[in-house]
Amino acid sequence: MNPAEAQSQMAALRAQVARHDELYYRQAQPVVSDFDYDRLKRELADWERQFPQWATPDSPTTQVGDDRLAGFVTYRHRQPMQSLDNTYSEIELRAFHQRLVKLFGREDLDYVVEPKIDGLAVSVTYENGQLVKAVTRGNGVAGDDITNNVKTIYSLPHQLRASAQQPWPEMIEIRGEIFLTLAEFQRINQAREEAGEPLYANPRNLAAGTIKQLDPKEVAQRKLEIVLYGLGFCRPAVADSQLNFHALVKQWGLPTVERYWPARGADGIWSAVSALDALRHSFAYGTDGAVVKLNSLGLQREAGETAKAPRWAIAYKFEPEQAETRINAITVQVGRTGVLTPVAELAPVLLAGSTVARATLHNQAEIARKDIRVGDWVMVEKAGEVIPAVVAVNLKKRTPECQIYQFPTHCPICLTATIQLEEEVALRCPNLNCPAQVRRRLAHFVSKACLDIDGLGEAMIDDLVAQGWVKELPDLFKLQRENLLTLGKSVEKSTDKLLAAIAASQHCELWRLIHGLGIPHVGVAASKDLATHFRAMEALADAQLENFILNKKSVIEGIGETMARAITGYFKEPRNRAMITALAQAGVRPQAPIPRAAASSLLAGKTFVLTGTLPQLTREEAAAQIEAAGGKVSSSVSKKTSYVLAGAEAGSKLDKAKELGVLVIDEAELRRLLAGNGSP
Ligand code: NAD
Repeated sequence: MNPAEAQSQMAALRAQVARHDELYYRQAQPVVSDFDYDRLKRELADWERQFPQWATPDSPTTQVGDDRLAGFVTYRHRQPMQSLDNTYSEIELRAFHQRLVKLFGREDLDYVVEPKIDGLAVSVTYENGQLVKAVTRGNGVAGDDITNNVKTIYSLPHQLRASAQQPWPEMIEIRGEIFLTLAEFQRINQAREEAGEPLYANPRNLAAGTIKQLDPKEVAQRKLEIVLYGLGFCRPAVADSQLNFHALVKQWGLPTVERYWPARGADGIWSAVSALDALRHSFAYGTDGAVVKLNSLGLQREAGETAKAPRWAIAYKFEPEQAETRINAITVQVGRTGVLTPVAELAPVLLAGSTVARATLHNQAEIARKDIRVGDWVMVEKAGEVIPAVVAVNLKKRTPECQIYQFPTHCPICLTATIQLEEEVALRCPNLNCPAQVRRRLAHFVSKACLDIDGLGEAMIDDLVAQGWVKELPDLFKLQRENLLTLGKSVEKSTDKLLAAIAASQHCELWRLIHGLGIPHVGVAASKDLATHFRAMEALADAQLENFILNKKSVIEGIGETMARAITGYFKEPRNRAMITALAQAGVRPQAPIPRAAASSLLAGKTFVLTGTLPQLTREEAAAQIEAAGGKVSSSVSKKTSYVLAGAEAGSKLDKAKELGVLVIDEAELRRLLAGNGSP
């Protein structure tokens, strides 16, 4: 290539990277994978090394990607927030250590290896233990002030806990990452799918988009999380190593990374990175790599930094796990609200530890954008490590037999002509009696997070709908014993058990019924807020938009405008109103929540420690319910602990409880306690 060609190639690459930076950092809507983006940037860096005369001072290879948006106040960091050099290669990781060995003239350098959380960077400032500021990375020198939004993050204390070893410094900037758990990401996407709205590509983009909303109330509706792992400006100094700093962050009660590994030398780094790789799929957040940091803060200072990144740290990124396979067919799923979702039926392939045979294609626009055809060979990837998605088609393997997919003009289940609502990308089956919709609605209605009716599995639901016994939710309460017995597989005992469970559910808590209706955007937390506020289904059904949003402000904390419109829209439908009446006529009498005042002393004097994953409640929700009932939640088990509430994969706290003879309860027992009829 002649020099003129090289120069124009570099300009083109720079423009491409700049466009992807804009889409990623400001709009939180990247159109290429991180791996492809990194490859482009690396290519640009290689050219710049070869032709330094045409490297521009503002090249994206030397700048921190700028996330600042109009509408936010800019705030200057006391100490710059840098990016990290990154690599996908073990050799380069070892070369990083060798550079430091050369610099310090010694081999035995100590590091800390941490998970690289795939979220967005934030700097939080505490003054005398009090949270005063939260700022995005911005261009590294100054970022957007997002203090009010960050204050909605439940797990971030506004006041640091006092630590016996180390008092709070007068001022400290602590760096961390805001993220969404994979579970919350799935919940939000599911609601969007049902509402016919485009899905978010991965938790990182959704977290980035959420924290940059101008209304903190909207932010609070999505449960953002935070972890803190880095030290910025601090007066006076509090730690002399990264390990010390981690310990302090924990003592102050701040959320920290689940695991980190001390490591010595290149071999130590590599085995820590491998240990992290083996564990990372079990973390609550997406991890796209490992961050390796020199442990000694003194050595960090000596190593210094470039304009963009420190010389004492590096990110080793795991290649996204992808696999190539063939699309045998494209089928269409009909959701609870009639949204048609195309699904790729794949030749089964092993991906990130499990066999993948189906991948979502989201909607017809997505199929057209990626030009996906039946018979194509495609790369599949676990986006955000959860939902398998088709990343791209391998055009080299395309044969003339590969057919362009024609989206059905009629619902594949009930054959009703599909419709596309204005401002929706998705097609819908408008027939509310479509058996696919009825099955989905019913499955949701009886699920654990709604009426929690045992004995109503998928096969039974299929039967009830196929027999025409359940056409609408209220029909569930009119099932006849003799009919059920004709199903053959139902023996008398299980039929009676099922009927008893259905009868018991008629007196379920109000929030369960609200959630069971499947109103778009209304999840468990919102259903509970609505139940507490309205206390009766009729009151909720009669509520107008101004009962939710007054002067552009939420009347009920946690219920924003999108949700308010979905709720009022739902109850405006005569069919839905009729169903509420029919449910009441069928004997459904939901229980309003116990008023706080009456409940507030129920658990007075009792101390709880929470550990593990509970079946239905998040730990935060469980803690809130305990506290609302007058109980106390503590983080460590002692002889004074009244109960240890343990869920799946409970850790050392459970062992400690057993050792000290503290009573261990599960979520069901907690419910009994909260209802005032648990064991003492
Ligand atoms: P980076 O993400 O590679 O590394 C720096 C960031 O890592 C820090 O700012 C911090 O937010 C984060 N981090 C997570 N865990 C950490 C830990 N334990 N310790 C320290 N930092 C930790 O750098 P970047 O400049 O934020 O972004 C570049 C990355 O973003 C690239 O790797 C690229 O893949 C991605 N990107 C993608 C696109 C796209 O179009 N797909 C565009 C731009 C950037």
